[in-house]
Parts: sequence; C-alpha cells; structure tokens
Amino acid sequence: MTPMIAKIAYILLAVGWYVIRMPHVRRSRRTPVARSSRGPREMALLLISLTGLGIVPFIYIATGFPKFAAYTFRPAQAYIGIAAVVSALAMFRITHKALGRNWSVTLEVRERHKLVTDGVYRYIRHPMYTAFWLWAIAQALLLPNLVAGLSGIVGFGTLYMFRIAKEERLMTEAFGAAYQDYMARTTRLIPWLL
Ligand code: SAH
Repeated sequence: MTPMIAKIAYILLAVGWYVIRMPHVRRSRRTPVARSSRGPREMALLLISLTGLGIVPFIYIATGFPKFAAYTFRPAQAYIGIAAVVSALAMFRITHKALGRNWSVTLEVRERHKLVTDGVYRYIRHPMYTAFWLWAIAQALLLPNLVAGLSGIVGFGTLYMFRIAKEERLMTEAFGAAYQDYMARTTRLIPWLL
C-alpha cells in the first residue's frame, strides 16, 4: 500500500459513483416533479457538499495543497479506507437501484412517486446518505492530509444536518401516515442504531 494507490482508490470511488448515478440523472430529467423543496438553500447545501467531497480532495490529489496539513501516511489506515470505498460503492448501487425513478439529486417528490420501504429501505430510511458518509470516511482514511481528508465529513455533514428534517417533512407531507409508520419502524443510517 502506497499513498499513490490510496489516491487512485479515491479517484475510483468518484468515478464509480458517477457511473452509477449518471443514468438516474438522465432519467430524472424526464420524470415530472409534483412537489419540490428545491431552492437557493438546497443549492447552497449541494455546493458545500460538492466542495468537501470533490473539489478540496481533488485539488489535494492534483497539487498536494494544503501542505501544512499533511501527516505521515499509514498503510493500515488506507486498507480500511479501501474497505470503505467498496462498501460505499455497493451501497450507492443498491440504493440507486431501489429508488429507481423516485430518485432526485435534491428534495423532490415526483408524479406517481412510490414510497420505497423494501430491500435496504426496510431497515434504514436514508441508506443513500449512509453511502455518502462511507465516502466521507473513505476520504478521511485514504488522504493523509487533515484538510483534504476531513473536508468530506464537514461538507457532507453540513448537507446532512440541514437537509434531513426537511426531507422527512416533505415525505410526511406527501405520504402522511404511511411515512410516519415507516419512520417509527426504521432508523436513519445504521440498522437499529442510528
Ligand atoms: N434519503 C434517501 C434518499 C436520497 S435521494 C436515502 O438516503 O436513501 C432524495 C430523494 O429521495 C428525495 O427527493 C425524496 O423524495 C426521495 N426519497 C427519500 N426516501 C424515499 C423513500 N423511502 N421512497 C421513495 N423516495 C424516497
């Protein structure tokens, strides 16, 4: 294990995520929206998340910036990081497949939106956000730089904190008691725990 391999693993995570997501982005453009919480606030949150999970780490990978925050690379840490990459990609694939045409990059309920409560959604109601947390953890473990490593946790953490209650409110407005029952029998990110 070398710093270069760890960086390549991080790049492959981003590429894999893009390949998994792209067909859904294309389809979502064609699927009419019934109810939306899209707005400047959501766009700002998406930008903050993109900066932390994408822009800062890729500047680091390309240039080594910011040098002052570098620390010694530990192979064992990077191996755990690769396990996080594999888990994140598996979770992205499973959740995109399960949500299908109900997926949106932002907070939207589509026409003929179906509430998904089976597969991984039987146990947790935000498994795609679990996948993003795994991404942020992989980043922290793979990039031996305090700023570039931790920016994902800060960036995605900000989106998550400000979005989660709003998303659950939107789903409750759209699905009423069905979503409230669903909330009562699931946790958010980790089955039975969190
Ligand atoms: N929070 C979910 C989904 C993220 S994608 C997760 O982490 O897996 C965001 C979109 O998914 C929102 O527009 C919302 O309307 C939709 N969504 C969230 N939970 C859903 C569910 N259980 N069934 C169907 N759509 C859902």
